[in-house]
Amino acid sequence: MGGTYIASNAPVPEGTIVVERGVSAQEFAPKLNRSAADVIRFLMSNGEMVTATMTLSDEQMELFALEIGAELLLVEAGQQEELELQAMFDDSDDDIEELQEVRAPIVTIMGHVDHGKTTLLDKIRNANVVAGEAGGITQHIGAYQVEIPTGKITFLDTPGHAAFTKMRARGAQVTDIVVLMVAADDGVMPQTIEAINHAKAADVPIIVAINKIDKENADVQRTLSQLSEQELVAESWGGDTIMVEMSAQQNLGVDDLLEQLLVVAELEELTANPTGRAKGAVLEANLDTGRGPVATILIDKGTLKVGDPIVAGGAWGRVRAMIDSTGKQVKEAGPSTPVQVLGLSSVPNAGDEFRVAPDEKTARTVGEAREQRQRLTAQRGDARVQRGVKLEDIFSQIQAGEVATLNLVLKADVQGSLEAVTESLRRLERDTVKLAFVHRAVGGVTENDIQLAAATNATIIGFNVRPDRKARDMADAEHVEIRTYEIIYKLLEDIERAMVGLLAPEFEEVVTGEAEVREVFKVPKIGSIAGCQVRSGVITRGSKVRFIREGVIIWKGAINSLRRFKDDVREVREGFECGIGLTDFQDLKGGDLIETFEEREIARV
Ligand code: GDP
Repeated sequence: MGGTYIASNAPVPEGTIVVERGVSAQEFAPKLNRSAADVIRFLMSNGEMVTATMTLSDEQMELFALEIGAELLLVEAGQQEELELQAMFDDSDDDIEELQEVRAPIVTIMGHVDHGKTTLLDKIRNANVVAGEAGGITQHIGAYQVEIPTGKITFLDTPGHAAFTKMRARGAQVTDIVVLMVAADDGVMPQTIEAINHAKAADVPIIVAINKIDKENADVQRTLSQLSEQELVAESWGGDTIMVEMSAQQNLGVDDLLEQLLVVAELEELTANPTGRAKGAVLEANLDTGRGPVATILIDKGTLKVGDPIVAGGAWGRVRAMIDSTGKQVKEAGPSTPVQVLGLSSVPNAGDEFRVAPDEKTARTVGEAREQRQRLTAQRGDARVQRGVKLEDIFSQIQAGEVATLNLVLKADVQGSLEAVTESLRRLERDTVKLAFVHRAVGGVTENDIQLAAATNATIIGFNVRPDRKARDMADAEHVEIRTYEIIYKLLEDIERAMVGLLAPEFEEVVTGEAEVREVFKVPKIGSIAGCQVRSGVITRGSKVRFIREGVIIWKGAINSLRRFKDDVREVREGFECGIGLTDFQDLKGGDLIETFEEREIARV
């Protein structure tokens, strides 16, 4: 067997050959007793140009295997090895029925920005957590547990759904109940709907907290009605969603909310086996100058004890000390308890699973194997970083019809935000713009980062971190751009703007109107028409528009037709409904936003 393009006639290995996805020809070929050149020549004959170090697609590998008659099984990177590693933990006693005990519900607060999530978390914490030894100051470790007369509740301390989604993406479901906060003066907003969708997708029960009822313009009825459109119907309206009216600021209704959380927890029958070896998830982790790697972990089951050998992702070690959310050192921690753990060999990732190993040797073997795999994957990734373009040049490159690669060095305050920012940035990628992370790490922007960025023409993004003076000077000298942010949304907005050419300095833009797509109609010969409601400003025919889906600009162009009922109109004002037809854009969906804007030239000074 073997086509004319394959020089080698060596026998094909017998049986199923397991290959990890994402390998290069150089890594792939030897597994099939062939050379990288064989693979490259063969693919070339099929019109596919690859080099020895480029990642092969599934199809390319399958095609080649078929050609030489090899039986191929493609697996996710590390999948097989991971299964072998997992088998080293013996957890046969985990799910014994008689050993299950009630555990505290783990609660995440989600909702639109400014609807009061942080205020509520602070109120609950201050009223119910006894300040610990650390000078009476409670610590923010990513989660905390409170105790009220009827039971205990664990709150995740990072509100919003970015963290929630991130954890889920890593297979860690660490929320039992979602509290959806809706400010009664503002009503249901885009992020409210996103939060609902995330909770539903995760199949987690929702309790609605209708907040800010102290405000003069609070409109609970309107909020209830908007929520019912999202299939969250209050019990008073004949539905089954628990809703609590409250004012986080005035501390009204907070206790009621806590009680209701325990009611739902009871219905959900949340239990865990508190005996045996602990298992759970890493909420966040960072490198502390004095204490080394510090990870906040949330225990699922079992009891974690000081001295236990543990593995968390690629990090391993023995628990040297544990600190609870009141800042107190503890010797043991059971299910649903968040604790900071000291003693790991390195900083694990948010969402990594942690487990107590049978002994330290196993912990080490598993941790080191994973770490080595991660290093290999990272190296492979690095080799693929091409020389990128600058942020301000990216749009011209897209316009020139080229695929632009934006190289980034990303630094963030904690592992959790690093992951969340990476994840969010990844979502901005599209066919024309690729992002390559030259380096991602926790910590301030350093000279080393500048060097890396200069070498790869990368832009440095700092999230909740700043460059020190030396780094700043070096950046100036090397013409490296550093952009720092404290709000994820601003960061993403900037990058998005760069992608659609809005970073161009000559223009300033003013948003003139915003409409929400309610329904989409297909009209023969004309195409899709978006039935919209104007939410603010004025929508004018012919004006420039951005089409936004879930916060991402997916299209830019102009309004082609504008109608009210059957009549063509020139403009439609806030509060009114209209039909909008867009030039060359048909991929409309309910819930999308259409934003119109004007570009005004800035007088050059
Ligand atoms: P988050 O973005 O959802 O975390 O919202 P914050 O907790 O930061 O709250 C945003 C603003 O609303 C802050 O100025 C709070 O003081 C205010 N706020 C929060 N809850 C209430 C409330 O119940 N009543 C009133 N009047 N203001 C509130």
